Amino acid sequence: MGNLFTTVAERITDPARPFLRDSAGNVFSYGDMIAASGHYGNAILSFGVKPGDRVAVQTGKHVDSVWLYLACLRAGAVYLPLNPAYTPAEVDYFVSDAEPALLVCEPATLETLRAGLGKKAIRMETLDASGKGSLQALAATMLPEFSTVERDADDLAAILYTSGTTGRSKGAMISHENLRSNALALVEIWHFTAGDVLLHALPIFHTHGLFVAINTVMLSGSSMIYLPKFDLDAVLGEMPSATTMMGVPTFYTRLLSDKRFNRAAASHMRLFVSGSAPLSAETHRAFTARTGHAILERYGMTETNMITSNPYDGERRPGAVGFPLPGVSVRIAEPDTGKPLPQGGIGVIELKGPNVFKGYWHMPEKTAQEFRPDGWFITGDLGYVDPDGYFTISGRAKDLIISGGFNVYPAEVENALDALSSIGESAVIGLPHADFGEAVTAVVTPRPGMTVDESAVRAELENVLAKFKIPKRILIADALPRNAMGKVQKNALREQYSGLYAS
Ligand code: AMP
Repeated sequence: MGNLFTTVAERITDPARPFLRDSAGNVFSYGDMIAASGHYGNAILSFGVKPGDRVAVQTGKHVDSVWLYLACLRAGAVYLPLNPAYTPAEVDYFVSDAEPALLVCEPATLETLRAGLGKKAIRMETLDASGKGSLQALAATMLPEFSTVERDADDLAAILYTSGTTGRSKGAMISHENLRSNALALVEIWHFTAGDVLLHALPIFHTHGLFVAINTVMLSGSSMIYLPKFDLDAVLGEMPSATTMMGVPTFYTRLLSDKRFNRAAASHMRLFVSGSAPLSAETHRAFTARTGHAILERYGMTETNMITSNPYDGERRPGAVGFPLPGVSVRIAEPDTGKPLPQGGIGVIELKGPNVFKGYWHMPEKTAQEFRPDGWFITGDLGYVDPDGYFTISGRAKDLIISGGFNVYPAEVENALDALSSIGESAVIGLPHADFGEAVTAVVTPRPGMTVDESAVRAELENVLAKFKIPKRILIADALPRNAMGKVQKNALREQYSGLYAS
């Protein structure tokens, strides 16, 4: 059977075991999860949703949103989560592109969204935190019994729109097998067992919180503490009840900013995982010094699920993203030709495996551009492999800076900056420059209580970086612009400072 939910159900040995506890202390067992997803499955079937139909969901992080995700899997529908921050105009684009049979939103946004959608005939239902949404009311009247629909392994389970920093956002088509193979690999390499309790503070409209976190929990029979968002007090309060946490790097810098977070606070934890954005080697080391735990950094993307991971046993190397997942082949290739590079060369990261998506929805040309003729998917990330086989990411190909004819990899300069005592965080970008083509430019935040002196920083960098890599300017900011997953928005910085070298 290809349906991911069938694999989940087959692995439930004891329906009484806890699956999810919310922040109010309500506990839902695996049996409750099966019943609730059945209620929701029957509700969406009652609207005529058929296998292959898209169900778009723009709601907060409610428990019912989890039931709805599972109901879509069970009904063979294609789950399409949307960031609650998207405006009605953006939602209109996704709806026009994906043509969902159903759009589920918050009661508070129903009318504005409906107005934004104009004349499009689409069924709209609501979910909210208090349980008073129209879909919640309907689901409560439905039977829990539901036969999970048979699906082929290659049938779509979800469409996730990429954040799309350039051009139109693309819908990545993710199959049941993409999700199953990846979650099973993660359960194995991260040693997830039924005894684990995952502290879940990530958003669930993104691959990290939705698939990496929830699917890994379900396929290992473990449970999760499901928090509406990352709130430092709440996370610190729950940590003694958890064994594992998955986070973006900002979760870990925020924990480290609080003195209450120490060895004792983390003593019940088995594993901290980081991903979705680069975790600085500085943060990695500071975390170990404070708690005795080495954060396990992994690398992945919407289109591919997870690609590499640092080892569970063995060195979790600061600044590196580890080894290919079981069943996944990863190589470093020349960006223009796809020719594999010898070990140590910096090139584009490419992969093949059961985790690689089925292409971009309604964009066959875009899809073709992202694959080599022999099937390797081109991630667009640059990186290299060290002599021990660890992969390291040097930045997005589109963020590569070419200054005076030399390639400058932003990650290398950012690492050198982050290691300085006065600097909290840094982002390195290329800006138009009459002489150099692009000028290496850093935007940094001071470490709390410190001031940054531009010429002193440049002098310090001269000890560690070749001259052509040293930023021409180091700009000081209170904070770096980040998206919901903690990724620095370099486009916004490039735009803001585009005229810096104009004179
Ligand atoms: P998304 O599709 O939103 O998950 O973004 C995927 C991108 O995030 C990748 O292509 C990388 O550029 C970046 N990314 C994910 N994990 C890491 C990591 N551990 N280190 C550096 N960049 C990462």
